[in-house]
Amino acid sequence: MPEPSSDYHVVVFGAGGVGKSSLVLRFVRGTFREAYVPTVEDTYRQVISCDKSVCTLQITDTTGSHQFPAMQRLAISRGHAFLLVYAVTSRQSLEELRPIYEVIAQIKGDVSAVPMMLVANKCDETAREVAAGEGETQARAWRCAFTETSAKMDYNVSEAFQELLTLEKRRHMSLQVDGKKGTKDSRRSLKEHVRRRCLLM
Ligand code: GDP
Ligand code: MG
Repeated sequence: MPEPSSDYHVVVFGAGGVGKSSLVLRFVRGTFREAYVPTVEDTYRQVISCDKSVCTLQITDTTGSHQFPAMQRLAISRGHAFLLVYAVTSRQSLEELRPIYEVIAQIKGDVSAVPMMLVANKCDETAREVAAGEGETQARAWRCAFTETSAKMDYNVSEAFQELLTLEKRRHMSLQVDGKKGTKDSRRSLKEHVRRRCLLM
């Protein structure tokens, strides 16, 4: 189990090219780029509401499923919650998540206590190899949540992060720092708040 700390660590895993960085950048900055820029390992910080106070959400965007084993194990040990991302255009990318899931299960022990979500990205694409039902079946087998997203179209992205946080039963966390419902307006005020906080960090 990770050290108890006020930071909450979310780790994003998945094969190269499935859209991990795009999901994180869409969520954190609201941007999208068509070009593929391979990631080494990046961490983003965002202030969120946590147990009636605020804490820092740390999102680690990994290099992919073939991350160096030592880095992968370290990210898993530190991680409180995980997004396992594949692209609906690649069956192979879903298959590549299995060994990662197995290492998470091995390191964490009881996976039912670990917030985890299987994320089917690029759902805007018409050239599908994986139907939504297949993703759901896999998620049930792994006892984790499931969602389809499009970083490109900004579909279900902040919802995926929000749902992941609600799966954490040891803390009460929300992306809304002011405790209001997730309206567009409060999301905007949150982003402004975060931007201001980031300048201070
Ligand atoms: P990563 O290797 O998993 O971090 O993947 P990237 O985020 O770098 O994205 C890889 C490629 O897929 C880039 O060219 C992105 O523009 C594209 N991409 C990412 N998300 C989506 C999406 O939701 N839909 C579509 N159509 N393309 C996407
Ligand atoms: Mg990347």
